[in-house]
Amino acid sequence: MHHMTLAEIARGLADKKFSSEELTQVLLARIAQLDPQLNSFISLTEELALSQAKAADARRANGETGALLGAPIAHKDLFCTQGIRTSCGSKMLDNFKAPYDATVVAKLAAAGTVTLGKTNMDEFAMGSANESSYYGAVKNPWNLEHVPGGSSGGSAAAVAARLLPAATATDTGGSIRQPAAFTNLTGLKPTYGRVSRWGMIAYASSLDQGGPLARTAEDCAILLQGMAGFDPNDSTSIDEPVPDYSASLNGSLQGLRIGVPKEYFSAGLDPRIAELVHNSVKELEKLGAVIKEISLPNMQHAIPAYYVIAPAEASSNLSRFDGVRFGHRCENPENLIDLYKRSRGEGFGAEVQRRIMVGAYALSAGYYDAYYLKAQKIRRLVKNDFMTAFNEVDIILGPTTPNPAWKLGAKNSDPVAEYLEDVYTITANLAGLPGLSMPAGFVDGLPVGVQLLAPYFQEGRLLNVAHQYQLNTDWHTRTPTGF
Ligand code: GLN
Repeated sequence: MHHMTLAEIARGLADKKFSSEELTQVLLARIAQLDPQLNSFISLTEELALSQAKAADARRANGETGALLGAPIAHKDLFCTQGIRTSCGSKMLDNFKAPYDATVVAKLAAAGTVTLGKTNMDEFAMGSANESSYYGAVKNPWNLEHVPGGSSGGSAAAVAARLLPAATATDTGGSIRQPAAFTNLTGLKPTYGRVSRWGMIAYASSLDQGGPLARTAEDCAILLQGMAGFDPNDSTSIDEPVPDYSASLNGSLQGLRIGVPKEYFSAGLDPRIAELVHNSVKELEKLGAVIKEISLPNMQHAIPAYYVIAPAEASSNLSRFDGVRFGHRCENPENLIDLYKRSRGEGFGAEVQRRIMVGAYALSAGYYDAYYLKAQKIRRLVKNDFMTAFNEVDIILGPTTPNPAWKLGAKNSDPVAEYLEDVYTITANLAGLPGLSMPAGFVDGLPVGVQLLAPYFQEGRLLNVAHQYQLNTDWHTRTPTGF
């Protein structure tokens, strides 16, 4: 039962082959048995899951239908869940029970999903390896000595290990696409503004975007359908109609113009990944796509710009954790300043503290122009590169990551080495564009992803290309040994 995709589950439930309650019991038992190896969950919500499953079964018995009605999922632990711990992977929020549901959580619950739990993540979504979590590192089911990617490593490891069919995640600089690549999943970062950020604990508000992590493009379409849409509670949410994503999957790729940026194939890219990317290009050519070399000349500046803008926004967003209103509070403070200092010093881990300092520095008088303003100018140039490219091509294709998943601990002493791994994903966040990573082969037994980028609001096009690719390849069906 645990091998089923969301699409297969929807069919099975509709045909009364099993109930949501039965499926939920099977998956909860599987999580109890296997998750100790992976550490992909921070909290399990068995009671909620069983009551939601029963309610979904009752709705189906009353004649209701819907692809998500009775579907088991989990939420990354930065989506607020009413009455349930929402930790953001941090000691700071270890004792925090959200007083309301995030819009994404509420929408998915209304569609009938069953919440199995809250998944592990890098602290405040800062990281690319899921090693900065207060709750410990997550292991990659493809090789337990390797990282699953981050920051949505818990969602990725759980779905890859068949503990559940799909999960929510968020992507500020790659945190949906990179863990998808590292664990052989399909992950979609929507256009900025497509999915409400209300109730998503903010890291860098102008970059953060929620989206689906699943095994197939077909399932990403189903989950995105339940997440997307205008939300008056989020001032950056965009009031655009949500298309039928599942209906977009079957378009022909005949004549589709695919741009491959020459800058992607620099010395930093593992040549074995380059070869798999070329293989995926050939596969899409067979399906009728036309390949064109393009250029994204400002790509080389994206990492430095991102690692100024994201920490700058984080330093502002995280100022609300002051030990006064909610979250961790130190014992016996001597005065207000002592309360602030010790609550934040004890509550935040090393990487979060590093970013708060970098961000506050970049925003300070005297350095604002030299760092923050300059980074914003680069951001515009990166966006302009994409706008120029999309005059000539329909999608852009390349590697999701320069390397496969590294060993646990391998980059702990060198944060910048980890930042550099985000080179292919970060540009989409700076520009606000949608991006998808799909399985495209293996290197040393570890999965490799190919990334597709599209113009604003063309999530359907990304899902279409990935689905057609998945109808003609079987990388996405491979299962890690032992799971
Ligand atoms: N690795 C990037 C960072 O650490 C992206 C994280 C994310 O997308 N949340 O900021």
